[in-house]
Amino acid sequence: MDFFVILASDICWLEMEKIKLYDKTFRLYIPYERISEAIDRVADKINADFRGCTDIPVVLCILNGSVLFTAELMKRLEFNCELVSMKLSSYSGTISTGVVRNLLGPTSDLSGRRVIVVEDIVDTGNTIVALSEYMKETKAADYKVCTMLLKPDVYKKDVNLDYVGMEIPNRFIVGFGLDYDGIGRNYKDIYVLDEE
Ligand code: 5GP
Ligand code: MG
Repeated sequence: MDFFVILASDICWLEMEKIKLYDKTFRLYIPYERISEAIDRVADKINADFRGCTDIPVVLCILNGSVLFTAELMKRLEFNCELVSMKLSSYSGTISTGVVRNLLGPTSDLSGRRVIVVEDIVDTGNTIVALSEYMKETKAADYKVCTMLLKPDVYKKDVNLDYVGMEIPNRFIVGFGLDYDGIGRNYKDIYVLDEE
């Protein structure tokens, strides 16, 4: 009979209390189960709005942070959609620089298409404002903004956020796609900077 043996060392890897990325320590903050439930709720709302559509909406993954969220979200979508990616950058270390740079894409033409912009997190909102201006330039037929996380204490911009997974305080987090200087994206749980 086949069976799996879970070693104690595997359990530590599955849900670690603390992780170290370069010079900083982060502690467990949002376990994967809660992230998954939030994605279920967001997908339900998107499906309610798009199910049965006759066009093929674009799911626009904002690289790199949204890769894991986009993948999990797309598995739950119940209509035909096309994945397009675009790479933007505004963070340096743990600080938002305020300058949003377009580094890549979009990987397909968005004109005339309905677009669901998929972001990992909305913080100052500079990225989402730049994206909404870009959506107007590109002549997309319509766009909706979907973000896994929102820091409502920081976000003071006017761009409407159509689908929000979870709201969090103004803390620097990593994991589930989010990085600290390029690393930490691979953790399935979300961790917060340990300032003790
Ligand atoms: P905003 O332009 O809204 O200030 O920030 C947008 C981008 O900054 C997000 O898409 C994300 O990539 C990055 N960012 C914002 N807050 C955090 C955070 O707490 N942790 C990490 N790792 N990235 C963040
Ligand atoms: Mg992002």
